[in-house]
Amino acid sequence: MKKNIEQARERMKASGFKMTPKRLDLLAYLFEANRYVSAREVAEELRVSHPSLSYDTIYRNLNDFAAIDILETTELDGEMKFRAACQSGHHHHHLICRTCGKTETLDVCPMEWVSPIKDSGFEVEDHKFEIYGRCAACQK
Ligand SMILES: [Zn+2]
Ligand SMILES: [Zn+2]
Ligand SMILES: [Zn+2]
Repeated sequence: MKKNIEQARERMKASGFKMTPKRLDLLAYLFEANRYVSAREVAEELRVSHPSLSYDTIYRNLNDFAAIDILETTELDGEMKFRAACQSGHHHHHLICRTCGKTETLDVCPMEWVSPIKDSGFEVEDHKFEIYGRCAACQK
């Protein structure tokens, strides 16, 4: 957790963002939560410690941090959700629970099976693959 914050601080500095007590608390909450949360959930959480922090500021901060890869985003049921980016360093995908926002690692990449792309002449730069459902705990 401390390491995550340090990495985030470095990345922010490199991109010209200042770490403030508000941003620190925002990131600490996301690293702690370790699941997809909406900006509204973050706002509710921070309202106690930072009553002056507006929803718009929180939303903007979340998007800024996503842009510099401190957070990852996904759209769940029409709402943008944010989560601390994985630091595993190896390529993987996620199973995402729509109920609680928790993710599980999927250690296979379907790109390996999409062979027709190779013949199309298309140059792949990036890809996304997410599986949505309900985790074991949320099925009970
Ligand atoms: Zn991951
Ligand atoms: Zn769940
Ligand atoms: Zn992949």
